[in-house]
Amino acid sequence: MGKDGEMDLARIEAAVSEIILAVGEDPKREGLLGTPKRVARMYAELLGGTNSDPKEHLRVFSENYDEIVLLKDIPFYSVCEHHMMPFIGVAHVAYLPDGRVLGISKLARIVDSFAKRLQLQERLTGQVADFLMENLQPLGVTVVIEASHSCMTIRGAKKSGATMVTSALRGIFKKDSRSRNEVLSLIDV
Ligand code: ZN
Repeated sequence: MGKDGEMDLARIEAAVSEIILAVGEDPKREGLLGTPKRVARMYAELLGGTNSDPKEHLRVFSENYDEIVLLKDIPFYSVCEHHMMPFIGVAHVAYLPDGRVLGISKLARIVDSFAKRLQLQERLTGQVADFLMENLQPLGVTVVIEASHSCMTIRGAKKSGATMVTSALRGIFKKDSRSRNEVLSLIDV
């Protein structure tokens, strides 16, 4: 997924050296010599989804299964676009098929593809839901994401242990309260 080729590693390295100087450190100090290179490679990995196309992970099968399909506790990490610090958590992705199902491992790939970008948790949640509605055309989609934001746990309000929960309901899960209650009780956040 990480298309390092599309990322300008040399430019990230130069920027990291600038930060090291700007905070009053010595970029020539032994412990910092390899840091710009390491950070550049790290960003290439953390943000490797930036130019990726989640459609690469779309394998759709015809199947007359008409109950909810739910993949729970998909681990992911992303990078908060306000502070460029990681937020880490799990995603729960459910859909009600309309004649088409998705290879289950692909759901996790799709989450990853959207997560490895400069993101907001709210947007990530909606993007995964909209992508599935558009490309799988199910009767409905529910995405719930629980994450802990390092920009919140180690700075600012310093609320360690606080978890942010976001949800996106589409189609039947938005319109029909019985379907919504069913999917939310399956997810059981
Ligand atoms: Zn943040």
